[in-house]
Amino acid sequence: MTDLATSFRADLPSWAIEHLATAPAAFDTDEAAMAFCTDLARRNQQADTGGPFAALVLETATGRLVSAGVNLVLASGLSSTHAEVVALSLAQTRLGRWDLGAAGNPAHTLLVNWRPCVMCGGAALWSGVTRIVIAGDGPELEVLTGFDEGPVHPDWIAEMARRGIAVEVGVGRDAAIEVFREYGARTDAVVYNARGTSRTD
Ligand SMILES: [Zn+2]
Repeated sequence: MTDLATSFRADLPSWAIEHLATAPAAFDTDEAAMAFCTDLARRNQQADTGGPFAALVLETATGRLVSAGVNLVLASGLSSTHAEVVALSLAQTRLGRWDLGAAGNPAHTLLVNWRPCVMCGGAALWSGVTRIVIAGDGPELEVLTGFDEGPVHPDWIAEMARRGIAVEVGVGRDAAIEVFREYGARTDAVVYNARGTSRTD
């Protein structure tokens, strides 16, 4: 076989790299970080590089911005490049280790503009973050955008807590929902996998 792929990669789009040059080195509050994250999500869907999702990895104690990711499914052609996977991977690349919770290092927070999907909840568990901050965890994302987030455990916050990950819900909720509403109102929005059971196609 000579046609097998032997590597894969995902790159932040040029608009995001330019925008991240304006990001503060650290955020004073979760609210400020979520406002930046929500704005990134909006810019991502407007640029058609992926769905309306963004994520940040922050040092928990200082708010230092370690990495920022956006959903890159459309830009990369890779279905696993959700914002959380991108942000966690960029943080691990920057720090040079797979464990963001390694002993003797600062603790890290994953901040996302909604509840992680079934894949990204797993990615968070594997990453070593000890805190997750989300704008909301209700059905609004799926209702407004049509994305199917998969069979997320009904008690996922307690499951995270059992594994040493604290989850904080409801930071910047209204602004996050507004971005999903904008996306859902588009007639040309691409709702990629997973394919929801409620869909007829
Ligand atoms: Zn995801």
